[in-house]
Amino acid sequence: MALMINEECINCAACEPECPNTAIYEGGAEYEYMGETKPALSEDIYYIVPDKCTECIGFYDDEQCVSVCPVDACVPDPDHEESEEELLEKARKLHPDKTF
Ligand code: SF4
Ligand code: SF4
Repeated sequence: MALMINEECINCAACEPECPNTAIYEGGAEYEYMGETKPALSEDIYYIVPDKCTECIGFYDDEQCVSVCPVDACVPDPDHEESEEELLEKARKLHPDKTF
């Protein structure tokens, strides 16, 4: 299941550099996906790109954004439930040079 950032976010920026998939962006910032630039998914708070969030599978045992967020704003996204195999497939697509 991908994670999402809820309205508790205080825009502290702690999570962004921790994500192994560059899935987290500042509100209002365009994001990159498979070589394409896409419009921001949120204008005023940080956001997670569902297609890029793998729950950190293959990199860390715990979700890094959850670990660093001071206000517990990184939560499971009920609209993006995925099995472990689906998360691994996503990770392989994002990191074709790495073996998972
Ligand atoms: Fe990035 Fe991991 Fe947080 Fe997903 S759970 S947004 S992959 S740090
Ligand atoms: Fe928002 Fe939490 Fe990320 Fe800080 S660490 S920007 S509060 S989601």
